[in-house]
Amino acid sequence: MLIDTALQTQLDAQRDDRLRVLIVGAGVAGLTLAALLRRGGLHPAVIERMPSMAHPGYMLALMPIVDVVFDDLGIHEQYVAHSSPLSRYAFRSHTGKTLRSDDLGDLMSMHGDYQGIERGELIDLLTADGMPVSFGTTVSSVAFDDTTSHVSFTGTDAAASVDLVVAADGIHSRTRDLLPVGDVAELDTGWGGWVSWCDPIGDPALGEEMWGDGSFLGVYPVKDRLGVFLGGPVDDTRSGQAAFADRVRSAAPHLDDRMHAALNSVTADDDPYFWPLTDVRAERWVARTGTGASAVLLGDAAAGFLPTAGIGAAMAMESAWMLGRMLTPLTERDDRLSSLPTVLAAWERIEKPRVESAQQNSRMLAKLMFRRGSVTAWLREAITRMLTVRAALGPIIGLVADQPDPDAVFRRAFTESATTPQR
Ligand SMILES: Cc1cc2nc3c(=O)[nH]c(=O)nc-3n(C[C@H](O)[C@H](O)[C@H](O)COP(=O)(O)OP(=O)(O)OC[C@H]3O[C@@H](n4cnc5c(N)ncnc54)[C@H](O)[C@@H]3O)c2cc1C
Repeated sequence: MLIDTALQTQLDAQRDDRLRVLIVGAGVAGLTLAALLRRGGLHPAVIERMPSMAHPGYMLALMPIVDVVFDDLGIHEQYVAHSSPLSRYAFRSHTGKTLRSDDLGDLMSMHGDYQGIERGELIDLLTADGMPVSFGTTVSSVAFDDTTSHVSFTGTDAAASVDLVVAADGIHSRTRDLLPVGDVAELDTGWGGWVSWCDPIGDPALGEEMWGDGSFLGVYPVKDRLGVFLGGPVDDTRSGQAAFADRVRSAAPHLDDRMHAALNSVTADDDPYFWPLTDVRAERWVARTGTGASAVLLGDAAAGFLPTAGIGAAMAMESAWMLGRMLTPLTERDDRLSSLPTVLAAWERIEKPRVESAQQNSRMLAKLMFRRGSVTAWLREAITRMLTVRAALGPIIGLVADQPDPDAVFRRAFTESATTPQR
């Protein structure tokens, strides 16, 4: 549960913490980090731009790399109870025919759970012990001196002096613009689409996608509901979701009741969330402040994802988990804080290539999925008949199978900083 709290109250609570952390953005990454740090005895201050958490939410498929987060927070059973297993994936042709179906259970179960969950449910789980958040608050400036970051805000007169600023404010991060993190490269696919919800129908463990000729329709189970995504080239979507859904219906005569129900849900939604399919990649995750003061980008603010591989939230959670696990031992003794810059650099060295490799996998799939033209569609279908999910997600499966050990990374970084003091 998120507890709306005045920022000054949060800052007062962290006054005696060995590591004072400000987390900007109460999303998946920010709240994962906040929950882990709170479990480690800290009181990170969390701010959120939205006036409340009234967002209708969307569906998230979470790969097994997130299991460690729930294990560490002691809420794995609750996670499984509030989500739905994703055991099968079906691929449909541009006319709506099912071309192949893959067993995801077999592929993932050796690594852990592969579950579908509503974003709101995930946030409830991460904050089940109560999480103070200052809503309606954003960062307006950050200045760095010796070892401290001084932050001012919009939405409150409070000012913060902290050891670490974490910008976890999503793909369109404004806090990122205030930090020296180098170039921020954006990729725009020119596609976008609507996100909606549908009542459950058919196999509750089956995710399905139709890669159309100038359209995309995906259906993803969460507990007791189906998440729906309907998209296409942004220019074509301007006619509105009803007209676009009609076009998809007439181009895909082989769609079944489940996919029709999904299309109908988007049409019936008065105000579905429209999601432009863009991504972003920051040159650096750890800001070069020119002093010993520290600020980092986390989650989509560091590397925002296209939805094609369903991995953005999972990578954001892994990065937050690695960071949380590497920060906690720093707080065990006063003299350890001097190692903060080295530990952050080690975190970036491990996590950034992993996240960017998953992002690259998502980009590669986008090139295959977001296409127009019936000849292209036929060709793609000929390829896809042979392309297993295992092959399509190869690099990501590799990341899942080879998750880093934050304790080992911390020990190496700490030993390194003990020989070369940073601050
Ligand atoms: C429709 C949809 C479906 C997706 N499906 C999947 C999937 O199946 N699997 C998967 O792994 N990933 C999926 N993703 C991607 C996933 O949602 C993101 O990668 C993940 O949420 C990133 O977490 P984050 O905390 O970095 O950002 P977010 O969860 O976006 O959180 C950012 C938070 O910061 C707040 N904020 C923004 N600006 C400011 C500011 N200036 N100051 C303060 N707060 C601010 C926002 O309101 C938000 O609460 C999907 C995304 C979408 C949109």
